[in-house]
Amino acid sequence: MGLHNESGVVLLIGAPGSGKGTQARFLAELLAIPHVSSGDLLREHRKAGTDLGTIAQLYMDRGELVPDDVVIGMILARLDQQDARRGVLLDGFPRTPGQARALDVRLAERKTGVRRALYFAVSDDSLVERLSGRWLCESCQTPYHSIFSPSPAGPTTCGVDGGLLYQRPDDRREVVAQRLVVYMRDTSPVIKHYRAEGVLREINADHSIDDVRRSLEAVFAGQTVEALATS
Ligand code: AMP
Repeated sequence: MGLHNESGVVLLIGAPGSGKGTQARFLAELLAIPHVSSGDLLREHRKAGTDLGTIAQLYMDRGELVPDDVVIGMILARLDQQDARRGVLLDGFPRTPGQARALDVRLAERKTGVRRALYFAVSDDSLVERLSGRWLCESCQTPYHSIFSPSPAGPTTCGVDGGLLYQRPDDRREVVAQRLVVYMRDTSPVIKHYRAEGVLREINADHSIDDVRRSLEAVFAGQTVEALATS
């Protein structure tokens, strides 16, 4: 049960708009581990109208972080699911020192730890430009950008499943600015922590989608998830 024989917990750390969501799909496939995004899980709760979703909504719409106890409980429960046993690609979690501690403790209990923390470094100007052009598929959440990666099926239709594309309410300019402030305040210590642990790899995410993908491939070149467990 749980993560006791999992072999590769990989973290994706990066400001909103750093492109980690776009690369997450590719990386999850490359490493053959499930992609678990805290933001996606919270949005699913909101859609389903759960108590957790109702609490989360209050914070998300203001660009604030959802309280640690709510997010930690949700993610640890997800890590206990069967498909996460070999490892998991955690996208958007941990985002605060408290979340990092909770994750480290749970992994230590399971005699494992974070194998790689990938930090998507990107300039502030690119972040605002990227977020304000972002569109997502309502059904499968595939992300597009109106300029950098438009959907092949047209501006309102998903190229994967034909779903309707929408813009997230928290991608509005004023909320984006608040999300970036919150990100710097709360997530910088998390980056420092994993750097000190020696597992951080910085990815220059100002580059094109293809170039960032190649940098990620280089990080994992020749390494299977099992190899990561012992590296
Ligand atoms: P994201 O999709 O990762 O940009 O997250 C969207 C929003 O969900 C954030 O602005 C937060 O309000 C909330 N959220 C996502 N992940 C976390 C987390 N690890 N801790 C707290 N709040 C989170």
